[in-house]
Amino acid sequence: MKITLLSGGTGTPKLLQGLKRVLEEENISVVVNTGEDTWVGDLYLSPDIDTVLYTFADMINEETWYGVKNDTFITHETLKMYESEGFSEFLRIGDRDRALKIHKTYFLRRGYPLSKVVEMERKLLKIKGKVFPMTDDRVETKILVEEEIDGRREKILLKFHDFWIKRRGRAKVLDVFYENSQYARGVEGALESIEEADLVVIGPSNPVTSIGPILSIRDIRRALRDKRVFVVSPIVGDRAVSGPAGVLMKAKGYPVNIYGVYKFYEDLVDTLIIDNRDNLEEKKEGIKCKVVATDIILKDMEDKVNLAKRILEEYKKG
Ligand code: GDP
Repeated sequence: MKITLLSGGTGTPKLLQGLKRVLEEENISVVVNTGEDTWVGDLYLSPDIDTVLYTFADMINEETWYGVKNDTFITHETLKMYESEGFSEFLRIGDRDRALKIHKTYFLRRGYPLSKVVEMERKLLKIKGKVFPMTDDRVETKILVEEEIDGRREKILLKFHDFWIKRRGRAKVLDVFYENSQYARGVEGALESIEEADLVVIGPSNPVTSIGPILSIRDIRRALRDKRVFVVSPIVGDRAVSGPAGVLMKAKGYPVNIYGVYKFYEDLVDTLIIDNRDNLEEKKEGIKCKVVATDIILKDMEDKVNLAKRILEEYKKG
């Protein structure tokens, strides 16, 4: 059985850890959000791609879901010493993590498409599963916020990174856009992996900033049309398990609960997987797909493996 996951960089990688233990890695493909990719100084950052690579390679720092576990920060500390005249080292990047980013930057600067570089890295890291950026084109997630500047309320468009890291997600969000997505094409391997999959799983990732960008690419959405699609909710009760998904769903006009998750994926989802503690009865009227309730808070490996097994069981029920 072949599974293709659509993923951001925290929730779905947790599920990937479980799936890796119940399914041959060769049979798992991951199509990854690149809407948060950005240049920081001379380095290209592809945060969700790197997290998925590190998760497959069992190198991920599970405390932050960013970077390599037990990394050192000698380069970062040294670069801080040299800060001057606009040369700034504001992101804390570990030494081993930086090595992968330098590798990516080297090849991107020489004109390689991102998908080709990721494929090289996947092989170099001896990963048997497949990892595809959603696109080789530049699609950037932008957050429209309202802020007080010199006593006036102003609307400004922020990169995700400026919203979430620099402002710590504190600005008032009005809307979210996926810049350039109307011109972007899905990576061929990603489209093939969806076509060949027995099951597509939209993991518990932020619908607006992790999965929304992937689905905004027309040929990816088209490839998903006739597929069996399971969605694992990133929302439990009336809040996201972590991160800004709640605020961003509200800004896009979706209620922050399982009904809102359903509405976000309404045209794709066959089975919605929600938490045991959620009260389905309240929302049942509006939810028109199959709903499975189980434990979807992925604290340890047992939780992750159990959810992965449950997904396979539900798939087999047909
Ligand atoms: P990002 O790229 O770092 O934003 O990561 P993702 O989009 O992949 O994951 C963030 C989303 O995962 C958030 O909306 C969280 O609510 C959700 N999430 C994180 N951990 C868990 C978990 O253990 N269970 C579930 N169901 N959702 C989770």
